Amino acid sequence: MNTSAHDEMLDTVAVYALGALPEREARAVREHLRSCAECREEYRLLAPAVSAVGISAEACVDAASAGASVAPPGPLLKKRIMQQIRPNVGEMRAVRPIVWPAYAVAAACVVAVLITSIFNTSLNSQLRESQTRVAQLNAHAAATARELNTQRTAIADLLSPDSQRFEVANGYVIKHGSRLYIAMNALPEPPKGKVYQAWTLRQGASKMSPSVTFVPNGSGVAVVPVPVNAASVVAVAVSVEPDGGSKQPTSTPTFVLKLAS
Ligand SMILES: [Zn+2]
Repeated sequence: MNTSAHDEMLDTVAVYALGALPEREARAVREHLRSCAECREEYRLLAPAVSAVGISAEACVDAASAGASVAPPGPLLKKRIMQQIRPNVGEMRAVRPIVWPAYAVAAACVVAVLITSIFNTSLNSQLRESQTRVAQLNAHAAATARELNTQRTAIADLLSPDSQRFEVANGYVIKHGSRLYIAMNALPEPPKGKVYQAWTLRQGASKMSPSVTFVPNGSGVAVVPVPVNAASVVAVAVSVEPDGGSKQPTSTPTFVLKLAS
């Protein structure tokens, strides 16, 4: 056997030691081992690897010696052998199936995050709208509460036996302490684009000051608190003015009342 043929036999011995050699070739290797000390030494050195893999080439030998047929290594055994010989192969094969699912999982996560993000943006938008609506309703409720309180005060003032009532066209002017009201009960609807406007003359003033504007309800009723300190007002009047009010009266007043001071 020449050198290169013997080197080839050494490789074959290694495979034989791992129990991965078909029986026909294994028999040739066993024959060679009887006559070759170098290959026997190679086989002896490889024996620990054989036991580490958990297979027994000896068993194969014994079985072959006993004349039993030895089945070639199954796929599972081959896999175990390959893992022992080339652990990297096993790792590469193990890694690949992980890399792609991991990528797929990452892609799925990106999609999930996008969907969640879009969903959250939508929810946040709805939440902001709801919060704005709640704030508006709260402001409206507070305004309504203030209005209700004003109306209760007005009712109490109008009904109070010690309030002063002054009869004017279409209703009354009522003074109770520092508060002043214009209480109309038969006020015609003003012309289109026009409103009624109150005027007050403060003590010592030379001309009327513009005050609140108002319109009666469908029944011609209007109860208007006049925002002024009644104690300092000597006269009150009402005129028809353009919507939004005027700085100076632009029409003949429907009434001018001089208040007893
Ligand atoms: Zn040899």
